[in-house]
Amino acid sequence: MIPVPFLKGKRVLVMGLGKSGTATARALLAAGAGVMAWDDSEAGRKAAAEAGIPIRDPAQIPLEKADLVVWSPGIPHTHPQPHPVAERVRAAGVPLVCDVELLALAKAGSRILAVTGTNGKSTTTTLLAHVLAEAGIAAAAGGNLGTPALDLPELPGDGRYVLELSSYQLELTNSLKLGVAILLNVTPDHLGRHGGMTGYIAAKRRVFDYLTPGGAAVISVDDGPCRSIVAELSRMGVRVVKVSVESVLSEGVSAPEGVLLDNAKPICDLKEIANLPGRHNWQNACAVYAAARAEGLAPKVIAAALATYPGLGHRQELVGSDHGIDWINDSKATNADAVEKALVCYDHVYWIAGGQAKEGGIASLEKHFGRVQHAFLIGEASEAFAATLEGKVRYTRCATLDKAVAAARNLAVSDAIPGAVVLLSPACASWDQFKSFEDRGDTFRALVQAFSDGGAV
Ligand code: ADP
Repeated sequence: MIPVPFLKGKRVLVMGLGKSGTATARALLAAGAGVMAWDDSEAGRKAAAEAGIPIRDPAQIPLEKADLVVWSPGIPHTHPQPHPVAERVRAAGVPLVCDVELLALAKAGSRILAVTGTNGKSTTTTLLAHVLAEAGIAAAAGGNLGTPALDLPELPGDGRYVLELSSYQLELTNSLKLGVAILLNVTPDHLGRHGGMTGYIAAKRRVFDYLTPGGAAVISVDDGPCRSIVAELSRMGVRVVKVSVESVLSEGVSAPEGVLLDNAKPICDLKEIANLPGRHNWQNACAVYAAARAEGLAPKVIAAALATYPGLGHRQELVGSDHGIDWINDSKATNADAVEKALVCYDHVYWIAGGQAKEGGIASLEKHFGRVQHAFLIGEASEAFAATLEGKVRYTRCATLDKAVAAARNLAVSDAIPGAVVLLSPACASWDQFKSFEDRGDTFRALVQAFSDGGAV
């Protein structure tokens, strides 16, 4: 736990009691702060109360008496509609921040590196922490993924905190001081929460406002929004390290053919790293290489560490093999852009897709439909997906994941195409049928392990 002694005696409202809110409340209680905590869900309040966290309904509290409000980034505080408590907090002039702000204040003297972007944040964050650790540097990864900011361990003075930051967290922070900030990519997502694309880009752009003088801005130049941010930062004299997986960069880190190039000089072949499949992961690896170089690591050390990355669950995770067919769990792919990254890695795909539909659907994937042998549709999005696939890809409405797994297995085994894969890459949120994308992926893994030889896992 990260101690926050500077909040001793302060009255702090904690809004939202998920993982990060609960960790915040615990850290505040340990510091001797006056904690008032709330979650709109009764189950959330009950679990927190059982853990000894004082519950107070903000509707009953004169908010101007609070010194600080720590807000869970998952709760809308601006768009599409501000939560009524956020409006009252602002009207009362009380600072509204998220847990990352408390980490930033508590660890003002420590080296903090941050990763943001639409896709690839978790992979890049864990890969960077892995590379630092392999190089003998104490490193802790967390924030938006895995461990909440205030549950991270205390590191020795030369340790590095590697934070995955969502656009929501970036909006609710003021005091971060970053040695390196990585922006992987910006494509449309979460637009409702940011009042449109301009607001979303602005939220991502904020990561660079927190760079310390001389800190490195690592940014892709492969999409329009990132390119315009590169141009702006370069004009401002910020130290920018460009990353591309589309073209060779004479200055920057690139891997258009899968060989990582540092200022166009070959360093290592990313295609040989099983746990970093696909061009999207080359982008993540290039960003990590650039960040690790900025932190002073030698190219050889970074290359060796990239090769031993253990991978993350639910991201093109091989969960079994059966009759020569690989079963791939890509449950984390909740939008079409993420699905595309997986589809292009395989030539013959039995594709399990669907769930709670996201804006845009799967129409943008049409250019890759030739790779899909058959689609197996589940959840609420089935009808919309069927309409997009009609006449282009054969599909079966399976309703649920277990039925889709059984149907995919039957067809894939009978087709017996060498190199075929069954890919769960839903292009949808999971909440219509599962608790989370992890729950969906775990269910898939269990279904597959019930019949696969397990040898490939
Ligand atoms: P995030 O934490 O940003 O959601 P993850 O590393 O968890 O990112 O990956 C989420 C999904 O996005 C995965 O299914 C993966 O296939 C895809 N993905 C990973 N890295 C990238 C990238 N650099 N560009 C686009 N898509 C990516």
